[in-house]
Amino acid sequence: LPKKTDKEKICLYSQELAMQIQRENHIKQALVNAIIKNEFELVYQPKIDLATNKITGAEALIRWHSPTLGFVMPNEFISIAEHTGDILPLGTWIIKRALHDLEVFLQHPKVDDHFCLAINLSVTQILEKDFTGIFLDLVDQSSIDPQNIQVEVTESLMIEDTQWIHNQLNILRQAGISVALDDFGTGYSSLSYLRELPIDVLKIDRSFIRDITQNQEANMLVKAIIHLAQIFRLKIVAEGIEERVQAEVLNDMGCDEAQGYFFAKPLSFNDFELRLAS
Ligand code: C2E
Ligand code: MG
Ligand code: MG
Ligand code: MG
Repeated sequence: LPKKTDKEKICLYSQELAMQIQRENHIKQALVNAIIKNEFELVYQPKIDLATNKITGAEALIRWHSPTLGFVMPNEFISIAEHTGDILPLGTWIIKRALHDLEVFLQHPKVDDHFCLAINLSVTQILEKDFTGIFLDLVDQSSIDPQNIQVEVTESLMIEDTQWIHNQLNILRQAGISVALDDFGTGYSSLSYLRELPIDVLKIDRSFIRDITQNQEANMLVKAIIHLAQIFRLKIVAEGIEERVQAEVLNDMGCDEAQGYFFAKPLSFNDFELRLAS
């Protein structure tokens, strides 16, 4: 094939950009009525205790089945929903659905008192003035012990409006809800900063786990993160375990829990209940 000229490249680039903008606009339009039209679903990825191989809980992950756009993944629409503000009603929908489903999981004979369901929060939600009030009211109206609930927040969230966010997270913690720092290692946390964060759990990002069995440096880095978390008395969860040997290595390193396709992909409500029974 002949090489493309710069002019052709620029043309291709702007076509791509135009298509991307068009896609974003479609997503914005489709988001507006998606809740009312019942297009969202929560799926549940089991969290596994590495020492016992038992399910300790799950992470709730949003799925969107749009009749016009097809299946849209959260990495594509959550950031758009944050910009448009749709994340606020959507975030409330997520909390309500998660609590409702959690009530059912907690009735399951194989589930014990320590079962914990993690809900992802976005910064826009926490910045809302009445967020913790609304959340804790919903928990109060349910039969759920707050100990059975965890929230996951990302590092980027922590640098936003630090004092306000720390206060909000501490209000949740005082009520008994635990806080996990998601995707740890991908953001900006310095060591001293980590010490000050109002968190209970550290989730090591998938990108660090990927190479731990092949690459000595990746392996030592995860070891160091686990030691660090132990110093701050944080529970450690590893994300993205795809192979048995990764689970074994992490267990030897002292990692408490893990999530990943090796154990289970995110499951529908029904499939998660079946998984609990097995
Ligand atoms: P996250 O919170 O870090 O969630 C973990 C992501 O990794 C999920 O992608 C999950 O399906 C995927 N994953 C789990 N195990 C494996 C594995 O072994 N290999 C690989 N390659 N991937 C694995 P998902 O569901 O597409 O979610 C992407 C991100 O979207 C989440 O990252 C989270 O930041 C956001 N998100 C998802 N659901 C919600 C929600 O209800 N609310 C908010 N605010 N954000 C959400
Ligand atoms: Mg998460
Ligand atoms: Mg994560
Ligand atoms: Mg991640």
